Amino acid sequence: MPQVSTRKDEAFVEFYVTEDCNGCGLCKNIAPDFFDCVEYAYSYFLTRQPANEPEVLLLRDAAAVCTVDAIRETAKTS
Ligand code: SF4
Repeated sequence: MPQVSTRKDEAFVEFYVTEDCNGCGLCKNIAPDFFDCVEYAYSYFLTRQPANEPEVLLLRDAAAVCTVDAIRETAKTS
């Protein structure tokens, strides 16, 4: 599992939404500041990356409710 900083001002993981997204909107209910949708495509995307550990945990909560496992996280590359 990717490492998460213990510092409050920086997260060392980043999230992305895969093409498996079906546009259900559950993730936006959990983390409305992080998700938006492409209405014509019925798919959601991340509006920004988490900036601290609480935001990482919020996005993990959003990933946990995604029924198609379309929200993934990876180690930040830069
Ligand atoms: S919960 Fe998953 S399937 Fe539903 S909109 Fe979000 S990313 Fe897409």
